[in-house]
Amino acid sequence: MTSSPTRPAVRAPRGTELSCRGWQQEAVLRMLCNNLDPEVAEHPEDLVVYGGTGRAARSWEAFDAIVACLRDLADDETLLVQSGKPVGVLRTHTWAPRVLIANANLVGDWADWTQFRRLEAAGLTMYGQMTAGSWIYIGTQGILQGTFETFAAVARRRFGGTLAGTITLTAGLGGMGGAQPLAVTMNDGVALCVEADPTRVERRIAHRYLDVRADDLDHALRLAVEARDARRPLSIGVVGNAAEVVPELLRREAPIDVVTDQTSAHDPLAYLPVGMAVDDLRAAAQADPEGVTERARAAMATHIEAMVGFADRGAEVFDYGNSLRDEARRGGYERAFAFPGFVPAYIRPQFEEGRGPFRWAALSGDPADIAATDRAVLDLFPHDDALRRWITMAGERVAFEGLPARICWLGYGERHRAGLRFNEMVASGELSAPVVIGRDHLDAGSVASPYRETEAMLDGSDAIADWPLLNALVSTASGATWVSLHHGGGVGIGRSQHAGQVCVADGTALAAAKLERVLTNDPATGVLRHADAGYPHARAVAAERGLRVPMEDR
Ligand code: NAD
Repeated sequence: MTSSPTRPAVRAPRGTELSCRGWQQEAVLRMLCNNLDPEVAEHPEDLVVYGGTGRAARSWEAFDAIVACLRDLADDETLLVQSGKPVGVLRTHTWAPRVLIANANLVGDWADWTQFRRLEAAGLTMYGQMTAGSWIYIGTQGILQGTFETFAAVARRRFGGTLAGTITLTAGLGGMGGAQPLAVTMNDGVALCVEADPTRVERRIAHRYLDVRADDLDHALRLAVEARDARRPLSIGVVGNAAEVVPELLRREAPIDVVTDQTSAHDPLAYLPVGMAVDDLRAAAQADPEGVTERARAAMATHIEAMVGFADRGAEVFDYGNSLRDEARRGGYERAFAFPGFVPAYIRPQFEEGRGPFRWAALSGDPADIAATDRAVLDLFPHDDALRRWITMAGERVAFEGLPARICWLGYGERHRAGLRFNEMVASGELSAPVVIGRDHLDAGSVASPYRETEAMLDGSDAIADWPLLNALVSTASGATWVSLHHGGGVGIGRSQHAGQVCVADGTALAAAKLERVLTNDPATGVLRHADAGYPHARAVAAERGLRVPMEDR
């Protein structure tokens, strides 16, 4: 993959003028471009959107070819994209997706980073992460509410409902990890965030996700303790290697209450080994992938040993979905799984109801459209206090990156109501252009990931990967505009299988019919997956809301 620094920056078109043959195709084009907008992507010159090396297209040539296909695509045609490269345009029908995407899928025996890198270097595949290669990344906000909810759950469980007066230690201020400081301060706590790359610290400050950068660790600790004692929310970035800083804080017996991590540990070539400069990582990883992997795993073992040390002292410690525990285990540390992942610890009850990250973006580019949809969501769900708190806070504190967008967690029986309302608003002119509605692959029924979303399932079905395949087929059968089926997102190659869907509310009756089905059936697979695994709450939700579960009374 060669970078193209001289190429003009990519940015999604705004307004109502179409360069494609309809809004469905235009929506795909705008969201692909939005993923690579320098305001949105972490390293757009390399087509890297977020999450280590999560790319939007396999090469710039492939990107140009996808754009050309989209401009020409008819309402009864479907573009096939194989790991970031367009490979065919087929005649289908108007209910079929306009684009079908498969990213980074490998046959089981070949599903590890070594084989993946070999095939990637041969130009045959691409790492799509979750929403990078499926063109529905909306910047750090995309994970913000989930992160906010997770820290809110930590606060409820351990600290009487608020993080005020506590210090959270974490690392990684990248595309996703950058949500952590704001999520902690939204819960009134103090966040101490270790990041190896100073440009990421500056970027998070510029986007208002992080409050201040400390000069060094002493300064960072002083700021943290002062703010904690005043019960004042504050987020502090400190430049350093987590594998050195976290053990040092343990050695100093720093007063840390909560510990987690969101470095890109899912990919040992994206986690900085001890003693290496950030700017040297890429070249070193290319020159000696095995040597760097070994050094990174050794560093992760040291990093996690310190996290376990904090857990032993009584801190609330959890894995934040980057497979740090498994990499540290491979690095030789035996107690790597001494603390839980965030899904079984805090999130699973939401998945049992089909609740997950529902997101939308205004194709007009006009923030007023998002303000109008925010009001519409609050009108639709007037009794959901957590939703009101979130939407109000997001409206005040979240800076848009790229096209204006919003996220909120909604469940089975709720999402389609929001979709239909947005479609009406497009039809009536309340919104100035169509909106796209999609989600992360980190959702109730769309992912198999034994170190994350499906860790410690009640019936032991953690590694059963049929569910995301069924989910993608259901979205395709229900009328989504684009559907994707990926491997390796979140936790790395060999460890996950997951699916995404995006619909377009363009104000037409056809869009309404599709939205109703997709946004009902997609979260329904989450309820079904958890009902099948024996979760009583999921079974009760299915019964209450009329979702048919054959063999429920086994
Ligand atoms: P990213 O690549 O954009 O950022 C990772 C950051 O970690 C970079 O800024 C990098 O400089 C920093 N880093 C690497 N090694 C370090 C070290 N040793 N010490 C300090 N900093 C170091 O990735 P991202 O999009 O922020 O995702 C982070 C991780 O979280 C990934 O593994 C991703 O798969 C996972 N993830 C979690 C969730 C979730 O919900 N919990 C969701 C999506 C992704």
